[in-house]
Parts: sequence; structure tokens; C-alpha cells
Amino acid sequence: MATLAPRFDCLTCGACCKNPDENVAEGYLWYLEVKGTDLLKKPDLKKKFVVYDESGVPHLRLDPSGRCAALVGKLGDRVRCTIYQLRPKGCRMLEAGEPRCIQARKERGID
Ligand code: SF4
Ligand code: SF4
Repeated sequence: MATLAPRFDCLTCGACCKNPDENVAEGYLWYLEVKGTDLLKKPDLKKKFVVYDESGVPHLRLDPSGRCAALVGKLGDRVRCTIYQLRPKGCRMLEAGEPRCIQARKERGID
């Protein structure tokens, strides 16, 4: 989830907080890597929102539907990142309105 842009209100979207269909099709169940954040220094939050892949690389924990466990609310309606200040670099880098955003919204039927 990124910043607000006039046409793209992240708080009524959340599409990029779910594992993209392409990843799922390829069997890639690890979505965003946890880096560029102090999240790993917070034991409670780490336990709740971080999982390690077979190589020991930390990723955001996904729920069974592929949504980031830190996201609350309903996609395309009203959502909120519960670790917004500690979200990984990958979340902060994604700009509302960029191609990956447009693709994520399309996949989730938003717009
Ligand atoms: S897909 Fe785009 S509009 Fe939706 S939450 Fe992500 S950055 Fe924001
Ligand atoms: S950490 Fe927050 S912004 Fe990043 S994918 Fe999860 S809910 Fe979305």
C-alpha cells in the first residue's frame, strides 16, 4: 500500500496487499520480503506478521486467501495497514497509479 494519488485511494483499495495472481499461478507463496523496516526488531509484531522461507528470508505473513496478515478491512471497500509505519520497503516503494498498482486493482476487480 502506497501513498494517496488523486484517482487511487489506497484506503478504499488494498489490492497490492494481496499476493498477485501471477505469483499464485507460479506457486510462489512468499509475497513481500521484509526489509528496510524495524519490524523484525519488534518481537510481538514479528511473530504475528513475519514468516521465513526455506532460505531463511523473512516475508510478510499471508492469510489463506493470500492477503497480507497486517491488512484489515475489505478489499475495494475500506482497508488499513496495521503496521503502516513499519511496513517493508517493498510496500513503501509501490506508488499508487503505477503499472503494478493498476494490475493489482484489475486482478481484484477494483475500478
Ligand atoms: S493497488 Fe494501488 S491504489 Fe490499491 S492500495 Fe495498492 S497502491 Fe494503493
Ligand atoms: S504491510 Fe501493510 S502495506 Fe504492506 S502488504 Fe501488508 S498491509 Fe499492505
